[in-house]
Amino acid sequence: MELKTPLSALTGIGSGLLYKLKRLNLNTVEDLIYHFPFRYDDFSNATSALDAKIGENVTLQGEIWSIQNIYTRSRKIITKAIFNDGTSPIELTWFNSSWLIKQIQTGDRLQVSGKISKYKSKLSIIAPRWEKLNSFQSSAISHQTLHTGRLVPVYPETDGLSSKWLRTKIDKLLPEVIDQISDPLPDQIRDNMMPLNDSIQQVHFPKTLEQAEKARERLGFDELFYVSLATQKARAEWKKKPIVEPLKINPADIRDFVGKLPFKLTGAQEKVLTEILDDLKKKQPMNRLVQGEVGSGKTVVAAIIAYLVHKNNLRTLFMAPTEILAFQHFETLSKLLEPFGVKVGIYTGSKKSLESRVKSQGKKQSRLSTLATSHYPDIIIGTHALLSQKLSTDNVGLIIIDEQQRFGVEQRTLLRGKAKIPHFLTMTATPIPRTVALTLYGDLDMSVIDEMPVGRQRVKTYVVPEKKRLDSYKFIAKRVAEGDQIYIITPLIEASETLVSVKAAKVEFEKLKKVFPSLNLDLLHGRMKGVDKDQIVKDFRSGKTQILVSTSVVEVGMDNPNATIIVIEGAERFGLAQLHQLRGRVGRGEKQSYCLLYTSNYSSDERRRLKYLETTFDGLKLAELDLKIRGSGQIFGTLQSGRFEFKIASFHNITLLEKTKQAAKDLLDSDPALDKHPLLKAKLQDISSAVMPD
Ligand code: ADP
Ligand code: MG
Repeated sequence: MELKTPLSALTGIGSGLLYKLKRLNLNTVEDLIYHFPFRYDDFSNATSALDAKIGENVTLQGEIWSIQNIYTRSRKIITKAIFNDGTSPIELTWFNSSWLIKQIQTGDRLQVSGKISKYKSKLSIIAPRWEKLNSFQSSAISHQTLHTGRLVPVYPETDGLSSKWLRTKIDKLLPEVIDQISDPLPDQIRDNMMPLNDSIQQVHFPKTLEQAEKARERLGFDELFYVSLATQKARAEWKKKPIVEPLKINPADIRDFVGKLPFKLTGAQEKVLTEILDDLKKKQPMNRLVQGEVGSGKTVVAAIIAYLVHKNNLRTLFMAPTEILAFQHFETLSKLLEPFGVKVGIYTGSKKSLESRVKSQGKKQSRLSTLATSHYPDIIIGTHALLSQKLSTDNVGLIIIDEQQRFGVEQRTLLRGKAKIPHFLTMTATPIPRTVALTLYGDLDMSVIDEMPVGRQRVKTYVVPEKKRLDSYKFIAKRVAEGDQIYIITPLIEASETLVSVKAAKVEFEKLKKVFPSLNLDLLHGRMKGVDKDQIVKDFRSGKTQILVSTSVVEVGMDNPNATIIVIEGAERFGLAQLHQLRGRVGRGEKQSYCLLYTSNYSSDERRRLKYLETTFDGLKLAELDLKIRGSGQIFGTLQSGRFEFKIASFHNITLLEKTKQAAKDLLDSDPALDKHPLLKAKLQDISSAVMPD
């Protein structure tokens, strides 16, 4: 058994399980032992039924006196057992587990763990954890047991893959591979932290909570340290790369272009533009991330730079995350740039939708076949399809990447084998808290457009109680009668769009068709074919569809100024920053817009969390709140997607962040290529091969 052994090679793991494991991103034995518990149930208190106190978590050993299934009047099945540990009989109760009577029989010796309660003056444990004891095991509480009688790890699960299953597998595999783990951290950095293999052992099956904490500290340090190391190293290497051609920036060109815009740049746009221009004047390639909310004017800034690049007789490549957004950018940039004699082209890979779209707009377009010829456009907008083409980037001076999830991957693909490289500008509307950005995007310089153009209206936002649902449906009907359009976003069931999420959207769609029988509703989700999506989006933008029911992951940047209400179901499943981004789909026209949030989590904490949206309209502030309230997981669920994975590290711990950053810097100062630390070098290659530019 090797760390890299694929889980598919293990006995007892069939295709069904593999599929579920994949959903948790678990593909190898190593992945599985790096799947860490997020909490421990403390069942280490071994006692007797006589001494156990109500409300306490306990572990008991004893014998099953009887066990049977009971059918209630509401046709539910309850399994009840009488269990005796020699001090006092108690009742064990399970729900919906009728199969248990096949596994547990009268006379079996069991160890059970759970919370002691009293029901009708009888002591009982509801839904106890249990495992059988071998007859030879002594009466002393056994720590050989896995699911009871100890600190029991609880893991992130997925439908059909329980903590119990994960615990059993990890317990079995860990001893086989633990000795293969060598600690890549040099001694001076490891200091007095727990050694790596102890940490992995203790994080799964800790002797004490203190040990678990020490293990998590060490593993959290590692996560942040490797990322710091990777980004700092990448940054240093990037700065050494030769650029395609240094640009000449003529201030008159900027004045000329900006002067013809129908508006004045905001202060924030000017500030960011200056930061970019400073980069462009250098002899090293720029690698900058511009962050700004939807509508803050990123595209305009991009257009200005593309124009300057064009003035240097170089081309710009503009990558959009989806076809719909590519076309939106194509329209915007054509309008902005063509008056200045800049040729704008598009390539998205799907010819059909492309041709029909272009025809209906009466626009010229350049397909890739013509890109190879001499009259290829000065700026080419495209999707990932561009990457699959043998596109000559020789004359490309600037690559702009808009809102993409797999940071770095595109960059690497585009630059593979290139001797000289262009400037890079990445744009995102995802708010990234500063502490996070410093680590996660340490290889990029960052600019923030933190000001919206004047005259933008606020979207009135309400957390709506369930009893007012009918009122809001009436309000929607009234708005539709006035000619407005509506988004209804269905809950995110899992972090990525899966069949489960799609099913939820379909159910909501059917329900809403009955609520609004005379209106035109349509359904949009990410698992549809591109052509179908395109049609649905077109129908919505043209006003034919009045209510668009949609999952959350599609077309974040969709633009329809006529949409004035967005309803978000299952809001508890989203981070605040994410909700804010969804909210940004309305409020794009003249009319007052609304965002109505529904939640099925009525806890006061959750309501308080959502209510921040009623008063806060700053995406970055909301992202910081997410970080405070829910920790980094919330942010990274949506943001990291393939850059780095954080299971333990938390970005609130500024001291730890500083410590890891400094440690990485010191190490690179003394050993820039990590030649003296081969284990670290290999580890880094492992992490960054998928995400960082070479
Ligand atoms: P983003 O790409 O950040 O979402 P855009 O660049 O597409 O934003 O700008 C959104 C809208 O705001 C566009 O219609 C654009 O013309 C307009 N806009 C951009 N900058 C300004 C400004 N300084 N003043 C007024 N309107 C602006
Ligand atoms: Mg944009």
